[in-house]
Amino acid sequence: MPELPEVETIKNELLPHIIGRRVTGVTLFWEGIVRQPSVEEFCSRLIGQNITGVARRGKYLLFSLTSSEVLIIHLKMTGSLLVGQDSSEPPKYTRAIIHLDKDINIFFRDPRKFGVMWLVKDIDSVVGKLGPEPLEAGFTPQVLAQRLTNRTAPIKALLPDQTFIAGIGNMYADEALFAARIHPLRSGGSLSRNEMERLHRAIQRVLWSAIGNKGASVENYFRPDGTLGTAHFQFQVAHRLGGKSCPVCGTPIERIPIRNRGSYFCPKCQPQSPLSQNPPAPS
Ligand SMILES: [Zn+2]
Repeated sequence: MPELPEVETIKNELLPHIIGRRVTGVTLFWEGIVRQPSVEEFCSRLIGQNITGVARRGKYLLFSLTSSEVLIIHLKMTGSLLVGQDSSEPPKYTRAIIHLDKDINIFFRDPRKFGVMWLVKDIDSVVGKLGPEPLEAGFTPQVLAQRLTNRTAPIKALLPDQTFIAGIGNMYADEALFAARIHPLRSGGSLSRNEMERLHRAIQRVLWSAIGNKGASVENYFRPDGTLGTAHFQFQVAHRLGGKSCPVCGTPIERIPIRNRGSYFCPKCQPQSPLSQNPPAPS
């Protein structure tokens, strides 16, 4: 699934093609891709609008329009947005086309059809419950510490929770925990101050590095020009199974299910500290 670095890359690379462009038409091959309003209203209210800006919030793309409505897109598991000419053949699995002037098309490609579009006046109706943006100045080690206080859930379940922190998914949660040397099953509230600071640094470093590498093309992620990202070549533990070993200590990478998702980690570099899991009773 595209996570923050992938969605950020898509935003950055779409922007020069579509900023200031006018929507001239909408073609839907799969009407279920429109969540709100009705398909008819979605198309009629979008057509004729100019795109005045593109932003990202968590894993959502926000397209500002002259009508002051906002087109919101979530790519979910397998979606990508490809830029092409109006005359070009839609790529396989194209579920929607947003036609723009100057002969530009945005192709919403989505093999598994989980992707969603909204057209709304109030973005908070869609993104209002998201947690803080991990790369913004307001996300300090103190903010992370505050959000972890008394949390009993495993840290690996908290990081991909979009209400806890926005934009992180399975891949970058595994990478950040490895970089911070924290076992994925440690409860959020059990992390020491030092571990929280390491985790904060690791989250930002892992995300910035992946943005620099234009996202990870593990499965079905394409940049708007159809090329792949290279961030997955830098992965230390995520998706590294089949005899792959830890790049730091050589121990085989392990995979355990946490909340139904595979978590990759190094059992030696990320020890499960029994002391911090069950602190001794005060004497
Ligand atoms: Zn290791």
